[in-house]
Amino acid sequence: MPSLQERLDSGDVLIIDGGMGTELERRGIEMDGAAWAGAVAREHPEAIRAIHRDFIDAGADIIIANTYAAAPHVLRHAGIGKTEACNLNRISCAVAHETVRDAAADRSVLVAGSMSSFRAGLHLDTLPTDEEARASYGAQARVLADAGCDLIIAEMMLDPVISPRAIEAALETGLPVWVGLSARVAEDGAVMGFHQYAQDPFDTVLDACLLPGIQAAGIMHSDIDHTPPALAALKAKWSGPLFAYPHSGHFKMPSWQFDSVISPDDYATEARRYLAEGVQAIGGCCGLGPDHIAALKTALPAHLSN
Ligand SMILES: [Zn+2]
Repeated sequence: MPSLQERLDSGDVLIIDGGMGTELERRGIEMDGAAWAGAVAREHPEAIRAIHRDFIDAGADIIIANTYAAAPHVLRHAGIGKTEACNLNRISCAVAHETVRDAAADRSVLVAGSMSSFRAGLHLDTLPTDEEARASYGAQARVLADAGCDLIIAEMMLDPVISPRAIEAALETGLPVWVGLSARVAEDGAVMGFHQYAQDPFDTVLDACLLPGIQAAGIMHSDIDHTPPALAALKAKWSGPLFAYPHSGHFKMPSWQFDSVISPDDYATEARRYLAEGVQAIGGCCGLGPDHIAALKTALPAHLSN
């Protein structure tokens, strides 16, 4: 079986799964006010398993374990201590691996562990200190590696201060690390940061997060229309493998709003534009479900054309 690096080097096009948290919401699982989907493995591992299964059946080559909002410094705000937090990460990885074994015995499906800049309750005052971030991300990264993840995706990297701590912790495991960045485009066309960094140039985040040793970089959890300009900004500073998995719809506390989600066929058309830009791994983030991933699988070639 070729390694992930070999597959990237040979020009394989890889399908990433769709949004886990929003799919849990869509299926009626209640989100935690502090930790969003971070603690779902405690009560509803079967819901996570069913979603992984649907994404694998839709054609995903990479599924992402439900550890996005499960760093110990996030779960602490949901009343979950570090030991249990690590255990929830372990359970989420095990569910992902078990689903791969059950649903993809005849093909290669990789399990990515997720680490993110998610802050509890989306409140700025729940951001960890530098010291807390190092300890928390370090613990989470070691659990993801020990649980057998094939790679770690650092998701929603959007700030130049805390996000690099997650990437550094992921790199220390020795696993392949993909850096997923969020951006938005201002009315004047400038590519800017996201959330609390919306007034800062995206380049500031890129300079802080494109650390030596990462395997791939991409744009994720960003508007579909904003993704091509953000990819162009990324390509100006990164010449390695690219990935993309934007979102569709919008967040309105406490849940994702699905009323304006793009159709699967229209999303596949957008994805072909990413491919033309050299993006090699494509999936979906919030709002995009198994039907969107199935449309990608149908529409995208198995290899980049030279
Ligand atoms: Zn998202």
